[in-house]
Amino acid sequence: MRISIIGSTGSIGCSAARIAERLNAEVVAIAAGQNVAEAERQARLFRPRIAAMGDEHAAAELKRALADTDTKVLAGESGVLEAAASECDVCIDAVVGIAGLRPALAALSGARRLALANKESLVCAGETVLSEARRRGVEVIPVDSEHSAIFQCLDRRGGVKKLILTASGGPFFGYTREMLERVTVADALRHPNWSMGAKITVDSATLMNKGLEFIEAMQLFGVSADAIEVVIQRESIIHSMVEFVDGAVIAQLGIPDMEIPIQYALTYPERAPAVAAPDFSKIQSLSFSKPDTNTFKCLPLAISYASRPQADRAALNGANEAAVAEFIAGRIPLTAIAELVERAADRSHVSGSSLEDIFRADATAREEVKRLCGAGVWR
Ligand code: NDP
Repeated sequence: MRISIIGSTGSIGCSAARIAERLNAEVVAIAAGQNVAEAERQARLFRPRIAAMGDEHAAAELKRALADTDTKVLAGESGVLEAAASECDVCIDAVVGIAGLRPALAALSGARRLALANKESLVCAGETVLSEARRRGVEVIPVDSEHSAIFQCLDRRGGVKKLILTASGGPFFGYTREMLERVTVADALRHPNWSMGAKITVDSATLMNKGLEFIEAMQLFGVSADAIEVVIQRESIIHSMVEFVDGAVIAQLGIPDMEIPIQYALTYPERAPAVAAPDFSKIQSLSFSKPDTNTFKCLPLAISYASRPQADRAALNGANEAAVAEFIAGRIPLTAIAELVERAADRSHVSGSSLEDIFRADATAREEVKRLCGAGVWR
C-alpha cells in the first residue's frame, strides 16, 4: 500500500506514521508545517519521494538535514500541495484547521482514497470537496472516531432513522458558567479521555468540536440536521451509533485511541490488528446524558450554522480558529470564545460558495475576531 501523510508531525500524523510502519506501507510523501525534527525522523524512516514543509525556513532546514538522502524537500503551500497530490493508494489529510482544505482537494488528483481527519475542510467546503471526490471517483473515508464509528455501523441497505453522535463532554463536563469563567489554558488542554493536538482539545472543552462534527456528519452521510442527535457518553467507549427505523440501534465500541479509526481508514474494508480492545470488567458501566447547551454555547451555535451555505460555515470555522488561538495565547477567557465566534461569524457573511468566497469569509471572520478582541467586547 502506498500512502502519503499530510500533517505528518501532528497527533494524528504521528499515529498514522506508526500505523504505516506496522502495516509495512510505502510512504511516498510527507508534509507538515514547522516541526523539522519529526519530519526528518519520518523522512529517514520512510525514505519518501517528497517531504514538504509549509514554513519556508523549516523547509530550508529540512533540506540541509536531508542532503544525504534522495528525498526531494519542497517548501511553502505549493510544496505541501504537491506532496498531497502524489500518486498513491491513500492520502491521509491530518492538517489542522482550514489549512487542510487545499491539501484535501489536491489529494483528489493523485490518491485513490482520501482518509480525512481534517474536519474543517468538510465544515468549510464539504459540498466542494465531496462533489469533486465523486467526480474523480476518489473514496473519502472518515478518520474522526465518531464518523468512523457511524461509517462502520451504517447498513448499506438503508432504513437509517438517526445518527447518534457521542461526546465525552470534555474536561469541564458538569461545570457551571461561573466555574467555566475561571478555567486556565492548562485545564482546557487536559482532556480526560483523548490525547490530541491543542486546537481540537480546546474545541472539545468548549463543545465546538461536537458542533463541527455535527456539520461533518451532515456532509459525509448526507443527512439533515434533525436526523442527528448529540449524546454525552462520558467514558468515550461508544464512539457513535446509528438508530434504524425499527428502533434497533447499532453502536461501535472501542478504547479511546485514534489508531483504530486511522488504521481502518487505511485498510477498509479489511481489518488488521491494532492497539487493544476494551476490558469490560474494568469499565463496568457506560453513562449517557444530554449536553448542557446553556453553559456550552458553541454547540448550539455551530448547529445553527449546520444547514447554512459553506461560506457562512467557513466564517464560523475561521472565527473559531482565531478565537481558540487567542485563548491559547492567554489573551481571552474560555467563555469568550462562543461570544466572539457568534459576533464575528455573524459579521462575515460572504455571498457565493467558490473556494475564493470560502477563504474570503474565513479571512474576514479572523480579522473580525482580532478587532473584537482588541475592543475587549467579551467583558
Ligand atoms: P495537530 O495540531 O497535532 O497537528 C497538525 C498537523 O498539521 C501538524 O503536522 C502540523 O505541522 C500540520 N500543519 C499545520 N499547519 C500546516 C500547514 N499550513 N501546512 C502543512 N501542515 C500544517 O492536530 P491534530 O493531529 O490533533 O488534528 C489534525 C486534524 O485531525 C484536525 O482537523 C482535527 O480536528 C482532526 N482530528 C484529530 C483528532 C486527534 O485525536 N488529534 C481526532 C479526530 C479528528 P507542524 O506541527 O509541523 O507545524
